[in-house]
Amino acid sequence: MTTLTFDSLNPATGEVVGSHPKQSADAVRESVGRAEQAATWWAGLAPAERRRRLLDYKAVLTQHLKELAGLVHDETGKPVGDATLEIVLAITHLDWAARNADRVLGRRRVSTGMIGFNLAATLEYLPLGVVGVIGPWNYPVFTPMGSIAYALAAGNAVVFKPSELTPGVGVRLAELFAESVPEQPVFQTVTGLGETGALLAKDPRVKKVAFTGSTATAKRVMAACAENLTPIVAECGGKDAFIVDADADLKAAADACLWGAMSNAGQTCVGVERVYVVDAVYETFMRELSDRVATVKAGEDYGPITMPGQLDIIRRHIDDATKSGKVVTGGPDSVRAPYVDPVIVEDVPEDSPAVREETFGPTITVRRTRDAQQALELANASAYGLAGTVFSGNARRAMELARLMRTGMTAVNSVISFAGVPALPFGGIGDSGFGRIHGADGLREFARPKAISRQRFAMPGMNLTSFSRGPKELERLIRLVTFLHGRRKR
Ligand code: NDP
Repeated sequence: MTTLTFDSLNPATGEVVGSHPKQSADAVRESVGRAEQAATWWAGLAPAERRRRLLDYKAVLTQHLKELAGLVHDETGKPVGDATLEIVLAITHLDWAARNADRVLGRRRVSTGMIGFNLAATLEYLPLGVVGVIGPWNYPVFTPMGSIAYALAAGNAVVFKPSELTPGVGVRLAELFAESVPEQPVFQTVTGLGETGALLAKDPRVKKVAFTGSTATAKRVMAACAENLTPIVAECGGKDAFIVDADADLKAAADACLWGAMSNAGQTCVGVERVYVVDAVYETFMRELSDRVATVKAGEDYGPITMPGQLDIIRRHIDDATKSGKVVTGGPDSVRAPYVDPVIVEDVPEDSPAVREETFGPTITVRRTRDAQQALELANASAYGLAGTVFSGNARRAMELARLMRTGMTAVNSVISFAGVPALPFGGIGDSGFGRIHGADGLREFARPKAISRQRFAMPGMNLTSFSRGPKELERLIRLVTFLHGRRKR
């Protein structure tokens, strides 16, 4: 039988980077079957044993950092430096997940309260079994590793379906894992197109799906998962806002804004796409931004658009924005496939596609606002709710704005900084998805809470869960509950 294959291409040159099998339904089924067995073995290891192996995997990844960065560069076109940064972040997450899994998930006693004082209560978080990870191409190491590392550390086996644009990176991540864990296929990669991902999501032996990609595909994956009531964590796109308050450090804000918007050619789910600047500092901020953007070059400071089809969306948004707004930098000619030069447009109506839809390109819209409150209201008027940024000279005010931002994450006086803090959960609300990767929440996302209450001794005259219970016991219970909870506080 011949296996169909597909090629991954270097988006900058069109050269073939590698050829990979389009894995069939049988192949996916076999991988999940192997993963099921491996999951039992992996979950049966002592937490210290899993931790030791995961920390070894971390060391193997670190030793292959340059090779892996080269592969990420080849498959996505991003500069090697950016690929290196992405892998370093993934390594720090793997380290955190390995070191904290037992603390977060391990068995602990919890208080039983007065009514259950004859009980001992324990809580622990047990592995789910096989976790299916469906990953994107924009950060082919960092993003899937946010699920893979946390799922593995929580004691699950993982079957990973990388994007068809970055299969080589996905295959290498699993190969390197096998160097640290040769005994069982605890982490496997299956390659193919979207349908391979669909096969994985549909397999009833997959106990959770971690998906990163577009909102539209997340809905399809969720529909497939609904058949088996398989839970999913969905990390979808965003339309992240950047707020500049009157007392912000404008040089630092312009610098961060530009990097947040243009790095990785804007192909970042938590990239800056909308900028709101308060009236008092608007001109100065725009001067800072314009001066800086003149020095940023597509093809040097960032790579090409990885997914060719995205160019049409970017072009449509630029055309729309430049027709209805005022061009600061670039314009329709900025699209020079496969590259897109930086585009900044101001005064684009809030209801236009360039402001409402995810662009996923090196473009921003900028709007002047009366004050920070109006900036916040406009920032929050989005169907997405992934992340955002606040620049302000007043720490208290900045924290207040950050808390009121309707997103899963906010960076203050920095951009995207939350992604590098492993203890912070990562994920969004609304069209940006639900569930969390990273941090303690990310570990719990891939585990099921197991609650046990054990009776230590029988309570004389207080056996409430028996048909032998009489009116006296009920009377005692009412007296107790009145004593504990019956006083009003005004
Ligand atoms: P998709 O949502 O189409 O793909 C994401 C992943 O899902 C890929 O691995 C893809 O495989 C897989 N997939 C596709 N169809 C199915 C299916 N029916 N069942 C299961 N898995 C499936 O994103 P794209 O890569 O096409 O990008 C489109 C848009 O998504 C971008 O324009 C951007 O707006 C957004 N995006 C957001 C990301 C984020 O970080 N939040 C990351 C990437 C994209 P395959 O690649 O083989 O089709």
